[in-house]
Amino acid sequence: MTQRHDSAPITIVGGSATGLFAAERLARAGRPVTLLESADDWSPEPRTLIVTRRMRDLLGEVGDRSVVNAISRFELVTAGRTASVALSEPDLIIERAVLVPGLAELAVAAGVDLCMGSRVSGLTATDEGVTLEVGRRGATEERKATTVVGADGSFSRVARAAGWPPLTTVPLVQAIVKLPSDLAPDTARVWFQPDDTPYFYWLIPESPERGALGLIGEDGPETRRCLERFLEQQGLEPLEFQAARIPCYTQWVPPHRRMGGADIYLVGDAAAHVKVTTVGGIVTGFRGALGVADTILHGRTSAALPRLKRELDWHRLLRRSLDRFSEQDYELLLDVLSPGAKGVLGTLTRDEPASIMLRLCLAQPRLIVLGLRTLLFASPRSPLAS
Ligand SMILES: Cc1cc2nc3c(=O)[nH]c(=O)nc-3n(C[C@H](O)[C@H](O)[C@H](O)COP(=O)(O)OP(=O)(O)OC[C@H]3O[C@@H](n4cnc5c(N)ncnc54)[C@H](O)[C@@H]3O)c2cc1C
Repeated sequence: MTQRHDSAPITIVGGSATGLFAAERLARAGRPVTLLESADDWSPEPRTLIVTRRMRDLLGEVGDRSVVNAISRFELVTAGRTASVALSEPDLIIERAVLVPGLAELAVAAGVDLCMGSRVSGLTATDEGVTLEVGRRGATEERKATTVVGADGSFSRVARAAGWPPLTTVPLVQAIVKLPSDLAPDTARVWFQPDDTPYFYWLIPESPERGALGLIGEDGPETRRCLERFLEQQGLEPLEFQAARIPCYTQWVPPHRRMGGADIYLVGDAAAHVKVTTVGGIVTGFRGALGVADTILHGRTSAALPRLKRELDWHRLLRRSLDRFSEQDYELLLDVLSPGAKGVLGTLTRDEPASIMLRLCLAQPRLIVLGLRTLLFASPRSPLAS
């Protein structure tokens, strides 16, 4: 990695959660930052997201403003079993359409030059850095840069132009529904139905009246069909749909490359900073953005990045086991969830997968047998499991 002069300008491509967060960090440290975002204004589509309390530590007040609800209990459901896990500290439900404008406000206050309606279509290497082709108001402009951060999502133009291989993605579809009367607004319900999805269905209340019911699948149209069938089975009417393809973390993507005379970095979905157990990318995306911003500022790889890699690797190992679970395996899992094991699940967050696995196995050694049996002997149900 080349060490640059402290005041060298930085160009960020993509102005959603992770791009704005990285931009604000860099500008606050005194670096001139330009952010190029293809959308014309800061009104992202509404999206209901569940995050761990760690988001608060990372974002503080701007994160708090986007919180629309808090979840203090998870209900886990299989065809024949139900288990309930109480959280010692609640998970947070946030609204992206509130979070992103809040982050944009902070970025502007820190001095970031936000260029809306600016779509990057390519990067060309030069001896001095790179030239970005930017489509703006029907014309194409060229911009020179020596440090570029790609925060442009799952199908990152920056990543492709700089030679990173395309990411494996999976479809996520959720419907906003009226909350059923048997679900308390502080309880999220999760159904394991491995015939439909190696992941799970969820229903996450965003208020006492409404919730987001969704699933992650493998094939887009089939995932949508599964969701519609499930809504019908549950007697729930979709009020609106939210969908996108989410990157899957299949292996660590080193977030830095040289291209011509420039340093190129990736953050967030562009770098597949996504926990593949639950396919959550907000908290891990912010942590990757923090790691990349610190790397740029200090000229050496931030310790946050190897830490994030270890954590994402643990999630991948867990996913490999879960992808092989049959309905009977899930039933066994719920049967053996002792009070001690539930205590572990309720106390630790999904951001601590290694500690969760270790302490779960100590609390209920039968889980070791279940995990090893599925990993070693069961057939994978999705390509991610292999
Ligand atoms: C329906 C849904 C529900 C989800 N639920 C959860 C959840 O509950 N918990 C959780 O943790 N995660 C969840 N996720 C995942 C989470 O939303 C993402 O991981 C996170 O938003 C990634 O943020 P990002 O900034 O890296 O990328 P993105 O949000 O994809 O932002 C990329 C930005 O780059 C811009 N852009 C793209 N290409 C260009 C270009 N060529 N030039 C300029 N700009 C460009 C786009 O307009 C966009 O603003 C969910 C995702 C979906 C779709």
